[in-house]
Amino acid sequence: MTLSQVVGRLIGVREHLVDPGGGGAPRVPRPTTALVVGGGIAGMSAAVVLAERGIRVTVLEAAPTLGGRLGAWPEALADGIQVNEHGFHAFFRQYYNWRSILRRIDPALAFLKPVDGYPVLSGRWPAEEFGRLPPAPPMNLLALLARSPSLRLADLRRMDRDAALPLLSYHPAGTYAEFDDTTADALLTSLRLPDRARAMLFEVFSHSFFNHETAMSAAELIAQFHFYLLGNPEGLAFDCPDEDYATAIWQPLARHVTRHGGRVVTGVAAARLDRQPDGWRVTAADGSRYTARHVVLAVDPPALAALVAASPGLVAQAPRLVARMPAFGQAGPPYAVARYWLDGDVRADRAVFSGVSRQPTLDSVALYHRLENESRRWAERTGGSVVELHAYACEPGVPAGELAERMRVELCRLWPEAAGLRVRELRARVEARAPAFAPGSHAGRPGTRTDAKGLYLAGDGIRTEFPSALMERSAATGISAANHILRAEGAAAEPVRSVRPHGLLARP
Ligand SMILES: Cc1cc2nc3c(=O)[nH]c(=O)nc-3n(C[C@H](O)[C@H](O)[C@H](O)COP(=O)(O)OP(=O)(O)OC[C@H]3O[C@@H](n4cnc5c(N)ncnc54)[C@H](O)[C@@H]3O)c2cc1C
Repeated sequence: MTLSQVVGRLIGVREHLVDPGGGGAPRVPRPTTALVVGGGIAGMSAAVVLAERGIRVTVLEAAPTLGGRLGAWPEALADGIQVNEHGFHAFFRQYYNWRSILRRIDPALAFLKPVDGYPVLSGRWPAEEFGRLPPAPPMNLLALLARSPSLRLADLRRMDRDAALPLLSYHPAGTYAEFDDTTADALLTSLRLPDRARAMLFEVFSHSFFNHETAMSAAELIAQFHFYLLGNPEGLAFDCPDEDYATAIWQPLARHVTRHGGRVVTGVAAARLDRQPDGWRVTAADGSRYTARHVVLAVDPPALAALVAASPGLVAQAPRLVARMPAFGQAGPPYAVARYWLDGDVRADRAVFSGVSRQPTLDSVALYHRLENESRRWAERTGGSVVELHAYACEPGVPAGELAERMRVELCRLWPEAAGLRVRELRARVEARAPAFAPGSHAGRPGTRTDAKGLYLAGDGIRTEFPSALMERSAATGISAANHILRAEGAAAEPVRSVRPHGLLARP
């Protein structure tokens, strides 16, 4: 434990138990069934927990491969098959629930390798280093303020310190009551930060939630600032798998579910949901039917809204859920991912992962040939590199190829040596499946329980009463949805954990 973690612990910055779990039999006392729609992190987390407790669970995944937004699939390149992925992911250390699911397939989490620091790059200002701060608050914040060239003492004096207090005072109810109707942009503007500090310290952070600051709730920004920086003893450090996500995560998790009597069906999309006397029936797009006593809908927000709209019986069974869908089903802005296989490498001192500030399109760069074994082997064999570029909230209606080229050109401005590299292969994608966290949306955000018996929700857009985000929220809601089923069936629930439940300056 570091000194900052000792200090943090003294003020309550530690892992908290949100749900102690337990309270029932290790396995369900009588046979019962559950259907999980969606085989991403949320759905597979639910399925793992349900299968382990003896519930006969079936996962229905529309895509040919598992993983959703963390998916991975084989891609035929001119010189052989390579696994391509939905995009680089940072596995933060306070992802307690996601890590507990991953420990089922690798108890030591040996496949996760630390990423040693990461800079934020800018065309205007020198890079700002994140990830090498003391892990726990308040020392990480103090170190950031002391070290950051973007924020000097005079700037701190000039900024509106009262406006900054809410960032230190996250409260699961009070923050939403006070700030959910405000935009993240308005909150940041009220701080009166110098432009450089705003660009280098805050904008990169808020972009990572796949929402524009002008269209994102300030309460969500405060919640995420707490979850990632001020509420956890692990800090901003993260790890990444050293194998592709199919090899490292999805194949072993599917085997785990199957070994516990569950079934994973890919390439089958749920098209409609109907209540039955003793549970639910899901009709798939190919006409096949699946029945189960309990259902977890673990799909992305637009898919959830579409499935609910195609299930007319839900108007009577789950009127509150139905009423929430038109707003909830609006995804955030499109995001773009471009993976480039290049004929040479960038400079050896370039970081494995970099955030990017204030480029029109580009938000991050990941050097896959320095991260994952298969890409590393490809690069060694060919002398090339595998570089992935992301845009987290881009202009709608622009084709993936054009966004990929814009991002490449912007990268060349930041890293001039990239301009001399020839593109051997490119796979580019643009999608809009991330949840929107619009101002005022919190009150209508559905939780894991619905108003229909035996019907639950999970996913990164689903509300939690404790701090969570992105992959961790998917896993936490997946486990929570499974817990409702386990408790209804008399089986022991799974513990759910989170960071310190409220900010350092908040009154509990
Ligand atoms: C480019 C990118 C980078 C990211 N980086 C990070 C990061 O660094 N750190 C982090 O924590 N998070 C990151 N995220 C976010 C993270 O990927 C998501 O929060 C998480 O994967 C969501 O998981 P999920 O299970 O909730 O939803 P999804 O992954 O969307 O899974 C839903 C699944 O449901 C399936 N489905 C949809 N409709 C149906 C249907 N009708 N029938 C059956 N199946 C259906 C979909 O095919 C999908 O597999 C990133 C996301 C992207 C796109």
